[in-house]
Amino acid sequence: MTRVKTIVGIDLGTTNSLVGVLQAGQPVLLPNALGERLTPSAVAVDDDGSLLVGAAAKARAATHPESAALAFKRDMGTDATLRLGDREMSPVDLSALVLRALVKDAEEALGHPIDEAVITVPAYFGDAQRQATRDAGAIAGLTVERIVNEPTAAALAYGLHHLERELTAVVIDLGGGTFDVTVLEIMEGVIEIRASAGDARLGGEDFTDAILTLLADRARESHGLDADAPKIRARLREAAERAKRQLSEVDRAELLLPSLAGRDVAFDLTRADVERAWAPLLARLRDPIRRALRDARLAPTDVDEVLMVGGASRTPCVVALAVELFGKRPHTELHPDEAVAQGAAIQAGLKAGDEAVDDLVVTDVAPFTMGISSGTKMGTRVVSGLFSPILERGTVIPASRVERFFTLEDGQTQLQVEVFQGEHSLCKDNQKLGEMLVTQLPHRRAGEAWVDVRFTYDLNGILEVEATVMDTGRVSHLVLERRPGKLSATQIERAREAMTRIKFHPRDSLPNRTALARADALYVETSGYERELLGQALGRLRAALETQDAALIDPAREALNALVAQLRSR
Ligand code: AMP
Repeated sequence: MTRVKTIVGIDLGTTNSLVGVLQAGQPVLLPNALGERLTPSAVAVDDDGSLLVGAAAKARAATHPESAALAFKRDMGTDATLRLGDREMSPVDLSALVLRALVKDAEEALGHPIDEAVITVPAYFGDAQRQATRDAGAIAGLTVERIVNEPTAAALAYGLHHLERELTAVVIDLGGGTFDVTVLEIMEGVIEIRASAGDARLGGEDFTDAILTLLADRARESHGLDADAPKIRARLREAAERAKRQLSEVDRAELLLPSLAGRDVAFDLTRADVERAWAPLLARLRDPIRRALRDARLAPTDVDEVLMVGGASRTPCVVALAVELFGKRPHTELHPDEAVAQGAAIQAGLKAGDEAVDDLVVTDVAPFTMGISSGTKMGTRVVSGLFSPILERGTVIPASRVERFFTLEDGQTQLQVEVFQGEHSLCKDNQKLGEMLVTQLPHRRAGEAWVDVRFTYDLNGILEVEATVMDTGRVSHLVLERRPGKLSATQIERAREAMTRIKFHPRDSLPNRTALARADALYVETSGYERELLGQALGRLRAALETQDAALIDPAREALNALVAQLRSR
């Protein structure tokens, strides 16, 4: 018998993250310190300088935006830094903090230490973003066993790999801020990505904003309110979010906003009202779907299964759009926020050697073309900076390809191998990943000496470049240290060390800290009697915390949470 080690599966999302494991062949998502499966991908610095991760950090972002960071996944693989109070943090550091929090929660739930994980990333993530994700894992003290594409994980969660027949599936992922469409081909337990397209600036939040515009117009016209005043706007946006969720279930939403600028204001919204306002957004959803199908050279009727994931895929008109485009009902049975994490847990089980899933192989395709810069000679003129692809976008990986490059000058004994990723014919329009100098080419006439350049791309989207010089067989390996997002072992060690020095909020105090942060965020938005009630409940929890007596703290926290929930639902 082989010992089965536990590897966790992590969905490291833009808005929320989740962690799960495979137990008895089934994915099980693990709760955080608040007993919730969704942990907001948010980091904040508290008043005492300690770090908060998750729901408390997200709530603090509402009251102290300058000491909180959200949506940093968008900046992975770039040199961006985010300010948190007086700290500067990179997207990699921030992601490492979220990963660390998830792993602590998983360890608590499972009762043993975890040091290995599978992490999901969007299919369109390039090499730098994948490397940055691995680096974040390493800083969090994890061995990242595999980077898995989110749509592949969704297909695993839906069990498409168990179907006996060969099939084509489209995964539509509409999250809070991003939209991704992926075409998958599945046969004999092998899942391949055929094409992916998306819109990185389109998501459920835009649907909420469109309702907010509607409500703001009505607030101005029918109630004479200054809808741009920050407090009024914040309450209208919250009402818009609530209306959106209600209208996913029913045709009509009645919204009551008590004491909005001193008066009670009511709005009545129908599904038809909001769908009219969403028409431009729905039109934008069509484009990436068409593009993905075109890239995969498929007609909508060739698609056997359509899967919808991401919180905003609950919107009925988005589902209706999929029905219209594909002529069939999409699958929506799994919890749309959890499907990717479930797939990550299945993949983690596979990596760990869990027998329940050992019949499954996941392959992938290169999301971008990769190649090197080359030149050509026209008469006496050398034109350089041309992109010579070695591994084409869509190549099934793992893959290894080799191309031969000849010298352009007589007696040329060196070749600068510059590696690029992208789809443009000129290197300057693509993204540079690294370079190396290949030396000691034999002294020959132009075109008579050559170098074989081999690209090996593994399942985690990591690229190795090897150049072999003719005759001598001398091999050079590319060390891509200057790739954006790739940290050296020393840098990772330093970042890990820095993390051990960070003062974290103790995990068991998180429920209290989160309750306070959530209530504080609501306190800013409310006024009058509601504010007074909140102030009293907040005061009672703060006083109870001073006593350090759980018998006083727990009921005070529950009372505050209940009041916040009640006020939020109005
Ligand atoms: P995600 O990033 O996948 O967690 O997606 C979050 C998005 O889903 C947010 O924009 C939410 O407003 C949206 N969402 C959550 N529940 C619903 C619902 N019942 N109807 C429509 N949108 C929803």
